[in-house]
Amino acid sequence: MTDYPAPTVARSCLLRNVRLVPLTTPAPDEPQDVLIRDGWIVEVGSGLAADGGEIHDGGGRWLLPGLWDHHVHLGQWAMGKTRVDVSAAQSAQEAAAMVGDYVRARGDSDPWHVVQGFGQRPALWDRQPTTADLDAAVGDAAVVLVSGDAHHGWLSTSAFHVLGEPPREGVLVEEDWWPAFARLALLPGAEALLVTGYHQVMAEAAAMGVVGVGDMEMGEGYREWPGRVAAGLDTLRLRTSVYRQALAGVLEAGHRTGDPLDGSGLITMGPLKVISDGSLNTRTAYCCKPFLDASDFDEPMGIQNVTPEELEWLLRQATDAGLEAAIHAIGDRALTDVLDVFASTGAKGSIEHAQLVSRADVPRLAALGLRASVQPAHLWDDRDVMDQCWGDRADRCFPLATMRRAGVQLVLGSDAPVAPLDPWLAIAAAVHRSADDRPAWQPQEALTVREALQDSTDGRGTVVTGMPADLILLDTNPLDFEGDSAQVAEAVRTTRPVLTMVAGRVVHSR
Ligand SMILES: [Zn+2]
Repeated sequence: MTDYPAPTVARSCLLRNVRLVPLTTPAPDEPQDVLIRDGWIVEVGSGLAADGGEIHDGGGRWLLPGLWDHHVHLGQWAMGKTRVDVSAAQSAQEAAAMVGDYVRARGDSDPWHVVQGFGQRPALWDRQPTTADLDAAVGDAAVVLVSGDAHHGWLSTSAFHVLGEPPREGVLVEEDWWPAFARLALLPGAEALLVTGYHQVMAEAAAMGVVGVGDMEMGEGYREWPGRVAAGLDTLRLRTSVYRQALAGVLEAGHRTGDPLDGSGLITMGPLKVISDGSLNTRTAYCCKPFLDASDFDEPMGIQNVTPEELEWLLRQATDAGLEAAIHAIGDRALTDVLDVFASTGAKGSIEHAQLVSRADVPRLAALGLRASVQPAHLWDDRDVMDQCWGDRADRCFPLATMRRAGVQLVLGSDAPVAPLDPWLAIAAAVHRSADDRPAWQPQEALTVREALQDSTDGRGTVVTGMPADLILLDTNPLDFEGDSAQVAEAVRTTRPVLTMVAGRVVHSR
């Protein structure tokens, strides 16, 4: 897609005896050698001589470009490793009881310590959670439960006090929630905890074959990441996006999308990220028609978080400064409005999510040259909610095949922590649209394994000379998986590389 900056550490390596997965173009049947220098593939052929660096014997295994997760909140995913998991709760009382058990077992009486939990999905509960529910289970403890889609926070009364927010009866949603959410990261000990979490999630990512992420974390990633890389968090490429709250700083520094932010070559400036509407589970995605279960909502068609005028102003600022834009649009009305603004400003970049899409917007997406950054694993999680809210328009939900075949460039991701940072899961969900024994949901929108893999390798295809040496080695060729879509998805889902390389350096092997 874009060329990566070269890493400054010179290293060479010969990867011998590997077969190239013919992902986009044909490849030789016989095993090849791949010569890597300074992080780049400089030669692919048979019988290549090493030039003094490491030699790895691939044993005839299959070589692919490494995988990308194009939409993650890496800090939240890392913090999640330190949070109480309440995702299995089926009711407010059950979720509160889970964190209540944790609070009692922890036995800490520090009134400033905030216990964090994660993962509640109240959309299908019999009623919405209240502050009183949480207080009843945790007493005076300060507890914050971050929802499964991260769009609301559920706080105990003490947590409101610690975070400096006036207590309320219900959860904090979106614009009311983001400031409190950001304040969690400023609590004492938060950075040390975060670094521990980052090490864990980066090791897990390498073990899955992830070589790069589009990081959608709020904050000042463009300032924070160079120091983190220097401190050893250096096994992953990362494009750091910026929200409007920190945009002025990026503009002042003159960072353009694609610019390297340090000497490692691993961290580059990403896009301006703007959240234009809400989410499905909070019934705030901005739609052309009311949610089917909307009878008692204030906003039956969802919420617009920015007006088209504000968005236009922001995209002009970004475009003038050389920044791409990544605009969150989940509902079909949000997408239509956002495309209008891309068209009027000439901005480039991506639509994040594109979960419900008007038919007429598919060719517009293609014509504007925008990427659709989609998270297939959400359809496994949200299938029943989509039937409940959008059952009359289900054929336009996650229209992956329709978009792709109309010429829209898809890029796959997880939106971790909403779904796990696991590209194999995303690919499996794109291939087979069912998480259980039920038939696939809107199966006409499924992708093939080849398509889903192409959309997970950052625009790279079959391994060739001139590519960055971001590579994974697999025991089997995923294009050869056989059976019905459920069987293929299962084989994909359990695939793990034997070796992962980022910029010519082995970051995982087993
Ligand atoms: Zn996100």
